Amino acid sequence: MPRTTVIGSERVLISQPDGTLAAMPACVVIKGNRIDTVVTVLPGQVAAETKSLARKVSGKAYFVGDNLVSPAFVNAHTHLAMSFFRGFTLGESTRKNMIEDLFFHVESRLTEDDVESFTRMGAYECLLNGVGFVWDHYYFGKATAKALESVGLAGVVAPTLQDLSGPGTKWLERQWDETREISESEDFASAGVFAAYGPHATDTVSPDLWRRIVKESSKNSLPIHVHLAQSKEEYVKVFSREGKSPVRYLKDLGVFENDIRSLLVHGIFIPKEELALLNSKNKVLVFCPFSQLIFQFPASVLEWENAGVRWTVATDCVASNDSMNVQKELRYVGGLANMGVTYSPEHQRFLCEGGVHAAQSVGEARARVQDLSMRFSNSKFLLTKIWNTTESLHPKVRVGRLSAGSLANLVVWDNSHASLWPTTQELRGLAMGDTVGAIQNMMVAGKWIGKDGNYSNSIVKSAEYCEAKKDAEMRLQELQKRL
Ligand SMILES: [Zn+2]
Repeated sequence: MPRTTVIGSERVLISQPDGTLAAMPACVVIKGNRIDTVVTVLPGQVAAETKSLARKVSGKAYFVGDNLVSPAFVNAHTHLAMSFFRGFTLGESTRKNMIEDLFFHVESRLTEDDVESFTRMGAYECLLNGVGFVWDHYYFGKATAKALESVGLAGVVAPTLQDLSGPGTKWLERQWDETREISESEDFASAGVFAAYGPHATDTVSPDLWRRIVKESSKNSLPIHVHLAQSKEEYVKVFSREGKSPVRYLKDLGVFENDIRSLLVHGIFIPKEELALLNSKNKVLVFCPFSQLIFQFPASVLEWENAGVRWTVATDCVASNDSMNVQKELRYVGGLANMGVTYSPEHQRFLCEGGVHAAQSVGEARARVQDLSMRFSNSKFLLTKIWNTTESLHPKVRVGRLSAGSLANLVVWDNSHASLWPTTQELRGLAMGDTVGAIQNMMVAGKWIGKDGNYSNSIVKSAEYCEAKKDAEMRLQELQKRL
């Protein structure tokens, strides 16, 4: 018998038929790792209904009063093992190509056990930030999947595939096999851990390997998770090797065919006219603002939005971000349209000349982006990015929505926390605030992660966490010696 829980709250965030999101009295029935049903209830009757439903399904009742229940966050692009890079200074490498000059050098000395150990720390950081699901991409995919399972974080693991350059070339066949093993494992699936193909990028993967990935992806519907057009070096290399841009290269290889689902990360070097090639419900571009600010510069998501392309928001890795909190990325997106005003000709003129006339034309430049600014700072628009934009990408899992059939990933928020006051604007609080301290508890794949009301402390003081941290510290010291 799968474990069954009934969570009742006066304020459960549910998608409405008109596409809006609203907090309403409801009970969420969870069987095993999925949501079985969501039953809306009359106000004031949730406590009784929670108990009665729990009796009916022989489950545990959990009534949270008027504390808000929302989907847990989804982080659509991580390399959790890279949490250890916080111990390295980036310095000179940001001047050149950080990926090739720093990452590849260090990563070629990693062992499988290092990856499992460092991933555990990255996974804990996600849980502490209200993230219950990640799309991870790294070498030693099975070690990554095991780390997620042991810590209790759900996600889609893409073992890195590369054959032209990069540390993974020597592990290619093994990573190919591990993709299949993760995908076929019922234990991983019940922990909410699934697989995707993880070609590293367009410059590090040959046409032959791409064809092999496309063929298998079309056969078994596993999505492709890849870095696309992330640097000038990648763009130039692909152009000189293939005589075309990274996007056209992938198009000609069949990566953008309708039956191929793909998560395309960074997209900094995609000309406007090529965006139309990515306009499909099975393709999602990933914007990682704070990471891109460090390793390159932010992609032009305003153009993505104009082109009607689906896109989501993620953190990328600690090496270029330092935080696994997706909320802060949303604030960046929320204010993005206004950022163009800073670099507008009008503001540049004002900076040189000053004066009332120049100030007035800056006001006009700002008015031009007002509509876009309103759209980007809309709370539902932002939260959809980190809840359910990727929900249709994997055939075995739906996530980021409190509805029947979705993975049971949810957060109970403590309304008494100052970051959620006043509680009438719950979407705004979650989209623009720092509400991680208000997590009362989080459920991932049907299992509670922390102790109710003492969420983050109960995690960092647990024996499992202390053991994981000790192991990672020892391994980091050993790695530093090997370098
Ligand atoms: Zn990345």
